[in-house]
Amino acid sequence: MLHYSCDFCKRPIDTATDVRHVVKIEVFQAVEESCEDGCCDGTARGDDAEHLEEMQDLLESIDDHDLDRDVLFSDATQSLRFDLCDACRQRFLKNPLGIKTGKKLDFSQN
Ligand SMILES: [Zn+2]
Repeated sequence: MLHYSCDFCKRPIDTATDVRHVVKIEVFQAVEESCEDGCCDGTARGDDAEHLEEMQDLLESIDDHDLDRDVLFSDATQSLRFDLCDACRQRFLKNPLGIKTGKKLDFSQN
């Protein structure tokens, strides 16, 4: 019998009583050259690199042990899968990239 645990809070997920949610993340390098015929509007251009960095930070914060850095930083498409408990699912959806809002803001200048 398979036993799952939440990849965020490490809490065991008993599928008999808890709902298990699966998050699938695909990370791949955007190919801009193929868009010259207007297949995309270009509004997202330039954002991908930032999102990739944030995603890498997130992945590092999620688990520093299991993820292979060499695989992460290769050019190939990376498909990642996480199991989440219901509470962490809600937390994830509110802040999918794990951006630490509030902590970086420091209004103590002056
Ligand atoms: Zn959880």
